Amino acid sequence: EYVIVDGEILDRTVAKVDIEDRGYQFGDGVYEVIRVYNGKMFTGKEHLNRLIESAEKIRMELPYSPEELESKMEELISKNELDTGIVYMQFTRGTSPRNHVFPGGDVAPTFVAYTRKVARPVESMEKGVRSILDEDIRWLRCDIKSLNLLGNLLSKQKAAEAGCFEAILHRGESVTEGSHSNISIVKDGVIITHQADNLILNGITRQKVLEICRNENISVDERAFTLDELSAADEVFSSGTTVEVMPIVEVDGKPVGTGNPGPVTRNLQDLFKAEIERQCGK
Ligand code: PMP
Repeated sequence: EYVIVDGEILDRTVAKVDIEDRGYQFGDGVYEVIRVYNGKMFTGKEHLNRLIESAEKIRMELPYSPEELESKMEELISKNELDTGIVYMQFTRGTSPRNHVFPGGDVAPTFVAYTRKVARPVESMEKGVRSILDEDIRWLRCDIKSLNLLGNLLSKQKAAEAGCFEAILHRGESVTEGSHSNISIVKDGVIITHQADNLILNGITRQKVLEICRNENISVDERAFTLDELSAADEVFSSGTTVEVMPIVEVDGKPVGTGNPGPVTRNLQDLFKAEIERQCGK
């Protein structure tokens, strides 16, 4: 199995990162996860652009253009003969003696990437999944896809221990997103999802779903919704790179709507699958 370290493709068993890498010590870096279907990246350009934006937001300049990154990822996917899965990539602010202050310009970012086989979660997408609520205790720059995920991990662990797929996060009465996905509700045919600001990661899947809605004349309201609106919703779904459009059928032990995936979510799943097939083939 091949990986990329510092831009070089090499065997995973010989790959090395220094113990004073700033990603390892501080979580000082950014990352992306891109879906691969039939050996092709889905919405790859959007992910690579967001990676560069995340890097800029933490004042890191990446030594590669999006085109160079794209071709490196394609090379890795093909060397690993990946069919359906993900490619993970991260840039940290490099290796230098531990110090909160950024290292000088002579220190290059550390670039690491690998692939993994991940099936489409067809059974969960069919049946729907359960969720819990959890207070969103994260920082105020959730728009940056940074390596600092402790808040997300604590919430996801709580969900997992409750036998649930996702923790729906809220700041007081206001729902933000999930621990590892964006959350939308459906009320009277309208899709409501938190606006893309500093309190959520503007998911590429979220953006693709909203684009599909605009093309299909499905009404969308991009605004924060409340816990009361969540419990009165007809449908709830989660969206993300690996989970696609995932129906949520239970929140904190209470059924959503009928307790089964609803028609609007089903329709979006079909339209999303059509978009995958358009970009990556059947
Ligand atoms: N929010 C959070 C906190 C995430 O970690 C993710 C990624 N899994 C998302 C939203 C969804 O983003 P995307 O659709 O780009 O995967």
